[in-house]
Amino acid sequence: MEDLSFKDLQNSVCVITGGAGVLGNSIARSLASVGVVPVILDINEEAARQVAEDISSEFGVKCYGYKTNVLDKGSLEDVHRQILSEVGEIDMLINGAGGNSPKATTKLEQLTEDDLNDLEDGFFGLELEGFQKVFDLNFTGTLLPTLVFTKDMVIRQRGVVLNISSMNSYKPLTKIPAYSAAKASINNFTEWLAVHFAKVGVRVNALAPGFFLTNQNRFLLLDEKSGNLTARGEKIIANTPMGVFGEPDDLNGTVLFLLSDLSRFITGICIPVDGGYSAFGGV
Ligand code: NAD
Repeated sequence: MEDLSFKDLQNSVCVITGGAGVLGNSIARSLASVGVVPVILDINEEAARQVAEDISSEFGVKCYGYKTNVLDKGSLEDVHRQILSEVGEIDMLINGAGGNSPKATTKLEQLTEDDLNDLEDGFFGLELEGFQKVFDLNFTGTLLPTLVFTKDMVIRQRGVVLNISSMNSYKPLTKIPAYSAAKASINNFTEWLAVHFAKVGVRVNALAPGFFLTNQNRFLLLDEKSGNLTARGEKIIANTPMGVFGEPDDLNGTVLFLLSDLSRFITGICIPVDGGYSAFGGV
């Protein structure tokens, strides 16, 4: 009979980039709850250490927090050495650092005839710098940690990578072209690397969260003053068959499944965790 208690994950070490963020924090807690040693990497050092401290005392397990910039290979290599000496071999990597920015967001969803005299509120108002920043954080910020942390896994012929994609990887959402393109590239890269590593014991998968109300999208979904849903927030709820935003903990069953041996014959997929959003045609 298959063991369904995630026992195989006990005492394994999982690095989570962006682990001090809303979703990363929730994922790290779920890992600790099944006996995994979470290693939180975040550009926000104080938050990384605080989350690690909270998890250690709450779950009575070891949890580590380090400052790391996922866009700086040197910073990743330094922390890699530190983890090997202070924690041990790394068994799993979750690439969670990512997000959108207002600087890569158009004001308009679509251009219409009324906008032809002032095109700056749409595509033409985007600055390369903002576009590049968001693209890099999401794509290069997944590529570099994967380069640094998976070599040992390949040599040991055992390991798992889990990338955090998004709904807009399947169909781009209006207003956020850089974030959409970057997350689409995550799905493609997940497939590519899964094939590349398939014969050396390292599985690579992704999950695509639907709509979770968090720091990166609050400004798009809730009106700052009233706290009510924006028109965009209402549209999302109307297009989510379950009719609610996700709660961070809703991801964790899928995370544990994809990390554990229960999914040992699965590599190169992206699982939507979205209340039905990706299945719904809107009518
Ligand atoms: P968040 O902003 O709460 O967390 C992101 C974390 O990444 C932060 O702690 C931040 O300090 C860290 N970070 C930013 N730049 C970094 C860098 N250069 N190096 C290291 N760490 C860095 O965001 P979240 O909502 O928890 O999102 C986590 C992941 O889930 C992201 O990849 C995001 O794109 C994805 N996602 C979120 C949603 C959602 O609805 N919130 C939906 C789909 C996908």
